[in-house]
Amino acid sequence: MRQLLNIDEIMPKKSLGQNFITDNNFLQKMNGYIESSKDMIIIEIGPGKGALTKYLEGKNYKQLHLIEKDNYLAARLKEKYKNSKKIKIINLDALEYNYGDLTNTDGKITIYGNLPFNISTKLLTLWLSVEVWPSFFDKMILMFQKEVADRILANNGNKKYGRLSVLVQSRCKVKKLLDAPASIFSPRPKVDGTVIQFEPINNFNKISFQKLEKLLEKSFSARRKKIKNTLSDYHHHLKQLQIDENLRPENLSVSDYCNLAKLI
Ligand code: SAM
Repeated sequence: MRQLLNIDEIMPKKSLGQNFITDNNFLQKMNGYIESSKDMIIIEIGPGKGALTKYLEGKNYKQLHLIEKDNYLAARLKEKYKNSKKIKIINLDALEYNYGDLTNTDGKITIYGNLPFNISTKLLTLWLSVEVWPSFFDKMILMFQKEVADRILANNGNKKYGRLSVLVQSRCKVKKLLDAPASIFSPRPKVDGTVIQFEPINNFNKISFQKLEKLLEKSFSARRKKIKNTLSDYHHHLKQLQIDENLRPENLSVSDYCNLAKLI
């Protein structure tokens, strides 16, 4: 069988967003946010060389699923955990994995991941856009590039507030946990990161995510225009909800958008 290279000899793949965390202080801080109990399912997206996995592996859980697209890194993890019955390595694209397989489990499901920056929003939208809400997870702790994190966390009135902020906040309570400066990674990315915690909420679980997406696309397609122009099709609904049509898209709250999506 082909010999596995020393893990530090592996050339990081840019196409897979391979920026590995090498700062132990940062990992210790992340460790402080890992919750564990013996009936829970933990999923780690993109375990890579196992920087965060080494903190997860020692916790209590029913199963730990490691989803890694890179064949070589997945093979290394399989070798490392071959004797562990509770740790499952899934050598797949996290965008293709069928998370529905996990919904029959009783224990809580938490997702951790220092996500590859190039697919982070796609993954997040995938997990949030399920037809039946609440989704399969109970909590997520995920790293994003700072610029994306700022948009996820922004409140109305903020210039970063937009489509992504509303979509995410309509389904989850979001909280910033940690700053992740570019210096904690190797190779060093061009941008800093931010770790966010997501906890599902059920305030708007009857709303069609697809409808909300379309509404937001329409509204934020012209940020500077008043909604009486961009959302003129919904004049009656806006009136019904007593939303001032002289407002601009970033002035409407998450509830405003959700209530509107409910009516249309
Ligand atoms: N968790 C490790 C750490 O913090 O050092 C690695 C994080 S690195 C930013 C992203 C990891 O996700 C890499 O190991 C990469 O191979 C993996 N990856 C990239 N695209 C993926 C995908 N579509 N599905 C699953 N894993 C992916």
